[in-house]
Amino acid sequence: MTTGTGQAWEARRPQGFWRTFAEADLSKADIIKGFIARYGDVNSKLPERSALKDWQEVQDTLKVAALAYVAPDANGVSHVTTDKALVDHASVLGFPGEGTLHFDVTNEVVRGVGICPRAPSLATFMQMSAVQMIFERTPTRRCDECGHWFALETTRAIYCSAACKSAAHRKMRAA
Ligand SMILES: [Zn+2]
Repeated sequence: MTTGTGQAWEARRPQGFWRTFAEADLSKADIIKGFIARYGDVNSKLPERSALKDWQEVQDTLKVAALAYVAPDANGVSHVTTDKALVDHASVLGFPGEGTLHFDVTNEVVRGVGICPRAPSLATFMQMSAVQMIFERTPTRRCDECGHWFALETTRAIYCSAACKSAAHRKMRAA
């Protein structure tokens, strides 16, 4: 999955940070600034305060999606609820972002030919991630280093990224 015209980055798998966005306090300018610095603008626009309404609309849909997840267990892992009605409710999202979904055919040496959905904006990417993760019942966890939610794919990872892992290890060595 990739985002459109904003900050250029791409991800092959759904990303769990939509849960961080769902919980973010959008009344705080520095929280929005931090989110833009790390992930880009939700609708791939230049960061302006006037776009706050857009952010809130996107957040509202992701708050509904987050209802599918139960509170973290003793290991800090938050799973999709077994309540089917709640899952159904949480997976029906409005898609307020502009544009339609595109599908890119990828041809990679490692993975072979496949279909890769292309999200036109960060908002849509987060919504696609949310729906797919709920559907696949992907567990989530907060990163021990940065506190952002991330998708637990197969391992018992405690960091969201290689960057957070090495930052944490640097701190441990320094301690
Ligand atoms: Zn992290």
